[in-house]
Amino acid sequence: MENRWEENVRRVVPYTPGEQPDFPDMIKLNTNENPYPPSPLVERALRGMETEPLRLYPAPGADALVEALAQYHGLKKEQVFVGVGSDDVLAMAFLTFFNSGRPIRFPDITYSFYDVWAELFRIPFERQPLNERFEIVKEHYFGENGGIVFPNPNAPTGIELSLSEIEEIIAHNRDVIVIVDEAYIDFGGHTALPLIEKYENLLVVQTFSKSRSMAGLRIGYAMGQEKLIKYLNDAKYSFNSYTMNRPSLTMGTAALRDEAYFCETRDKIVATRERTKKELAKLGFTFGDSRANFVFATHSEVPARELFAALKEAHIFVRYFDKPRIDNYLRITIGTDAQMDQLVAFLKKYLEDRRAI
Ligand code: PMP
Repeated sequence: MENRWEENVRRVVPYTPGEQPDFPDMIKLNTNENPYPPSPLVERALRGMETEPLRLYPAPGADALVEALAQYHGLKKEQVFVGVGSDDVLAMAFLTFFNSGRPIRFPDITYSFYDVWAELFRIPFERQPLNERFEIVKEHYFGENGGIVFPNPNAPTGIELSLSEIEEIIAHNRDVIVIVDEAYIDFGGHTALPLIEKYENLLVVQTFSKSRSMAGLRIGYAMGQEKLIKYLNDAKYSFNSYTMNRPSLTMGTAALRDEAYFCETRDKIVATRERTKKELAKLGFTFGDSRANFVFATHSEVPARELFAALKEAHIFVRYFDKPRIDNYLRITIGTDAQMDQLVAFLKKYLEDRRAI
């Protein structure tokens, strides 16, 4: 029997993050991390850090990082909000902006945290189906709603929505906030950032976790017009004033100074992705035109579930979602060339052995 107090618990079905296995020989392609280390300037900043200042609280406004980001993107510092990974930023944005009581909209196949935050904050929502090519259908977002959120490129499909279609969605929704989650934008997508000047209802969210190789530091940020950022900060200060720790602020700021390294590693990942697509196609996989640091692939003969298990057994970790419409797909993060070669070699042999039986 339930205790009386349990009737009043805020119950949630939590988000399930990808596994974080720890084997010395593993190839980890399951959580879209960057295979390259952060910039050497980040390492230098870490080594130069003293422990004495850690007795002091960090700057509540994360000023140094906010200023560096504003400068990097050509914005005012009042247009930038930072948080503990873009998950924190997105959660804060849901809490701040999705309060009309009308359902918010997001794609049926998308980042699986959106429905979790909506449930947590009691925000009604409506999932809008992607078309059969796994593309977002812009017209689905034109009717009355309580706000909109989608990743661009979308996850886990990797498919990009064009900037003109994004603009149409924003223009049709001047009375609500549209959040474009650009976690993967640097790998070949087109950012909606230039649109923030024109649309006060647009919030663009980015992260240091993928293209800047800093998932472990937890740095995400949002950009929008000053008014939007002020509302976000008001909510954040009403929740926890000191979210960003001192080492993250220092190392995040250092990362922004190394544009050459950022471009070099990003370009390598994009080149490896395109090479991997060709190799996977030769093996009988099909996939959309991913603009992210992963491919979302299905095989013509072998069920994804079986391939996922076989790869796991070989300590090659990819992501499998046991969900309607996508339960025959694998999301494979782009690693180094050597890692992708090992993945392809394993799959080739597995498929050959299977056909021989
Ligand atoms: N948005 C999308 C679409 C993602 O895939 C992720 C990574 N899981 C995030 C946001 C959150 O990333 P982070 O909190 O590391 O910035």
